[in-house]
Amino acid sequence: MPSIPFNRSSLEGRELEYIFQTITIGQIAGDQTFSKKCHRMLEETLGVKKALVTTSCTHALEMSAMLLGIQPGDEVIVPSFTFVSTPNAFVLHGAKPVFCDVRPDTLNLDETKLEALITPRTKAIVPVHYAGVGCEMDAITEIAKRHGLAVIEDNAHGLFGKYRGRWLGTIGGLATQSFHETKNITCGEGGALLINDERYMERAEIIREKGTNRARFFRGQIDKYSWCDVGSSYVMSDVLAAFLFAQLDVWPFIQVKRQTLWMRYHHELRDWCQANGVRQPIIPSHCEQAYHMYYLLLPSLDARTRFIAHLKSLGILAVFHYLPLHLSEYAKQWGGKLGDCPVTEDVSDRLLRLPFFNSMTPETQGQVIQAVTDFVL
Ligand SMILES: *Cc1c(COP(=O)(O)O)cnc(C)c1O
Repeated sequence: MPSIPFNRSSLEGRELEYIFQTITIGQIAGDQTFSKKCHRMLEETLGVKKALVTTSCTHALEMSAMLLGIQPGDEVIVPSFTFVSTPNAFVLHGAKPVFCDVRPDTLNLDETKLEALITPRTKAIVPVHYAGVGCEMDAITEIAKRHGLAVIEDNAHGLFGKYRGRWLGTIGGLATQSFHETKNITCGEGGALLINDERYMERAEIIREKGTNRARFFRGQIDKYSWCDVGSSYVMSDVLAAFLFAQLDVWPFIQVKRQTLWMRYHHELRDWCQANGVRQPIIPSHCEQAYHMYYLLLPSLDARTRFIAHLKSLGILAVFHYLPLHLSEYAKQWGGKLGDCPVTEDVSDRLLRLPFFNSMTPETQGQVIQAVTDFVL
């Protein structure tokens, strides 16, 4: 019987060599050769004004909250169908999360429901490019401009995806990346803050360096560094940056591997999905997706439960995804109730993610496809 995990980390190139190198030259703290290589690579490839690697995407979101000056009582609009960190980073600074439902096609924040959620206390909109497929950024940006709101892209899934020809992560004033082990490109635990609005550039460096202007000091721009703002410790170790750079360096190969896996699932499961009332992912023609995951929408919660058990009996681990955040125990304090985000509530019960990782072999993927198509709903 095969044992096929949902995700598995892999070496994509020169990770061990680079880690050995950075330890040998004595650069194991942050912002040294390999962190700088990561910054330059992200800035040059995506064309962002500034990229800063961080300890996680959650921390890059927290930095965003500080850069916006989020205060108790401020409101931040997030999709209900996302990871806890998307709202939590703002809640940590006293914000009230306002949950927006998602579109039934892409499962991204529904831009048509956005404007009704804006109040005089709203400070920001945080769209999440679910599965690496772009949100309707033209509409979201236009609404944000009209109401004077910041847009922060939670781009944990979307690195190297595009919306109308523009890289995801380059459209909002700020964007956050994740390099957690479950993401396309990883160093185990890590993230990045991408800065598109240059007003945030100087202060972002200070917040990331414990509230000091140490980055300017190391560039020789000042002769001593001091405490000048709030901040925390969001700098990534160069040991992890060495691992990360080895993956960033070969990103086109990683993306091609994931595209090949995604396309094969999509084509070889098509007939089975149609025969069983299962919906496959929908990618709008103006979006170039980042191939972050392959999901299926089963007809019902019961069908999904039976389907997971069937796959498990064959040694295959398929998993569901986000539970509606507005219905979580913690969100009760903001009065979330059933029916607030009907699409989120519906898809959360029916969505299933198939095993999907860079080192998945054609044989392993064939076993998963066989197991799926052997199941009669
Ligand atoms: C993974 C993920 C995060 C958190 O990333 P970390 O790097 O683990 O902090 C945030 N938002 C979304 C949408 C994610 O998928």
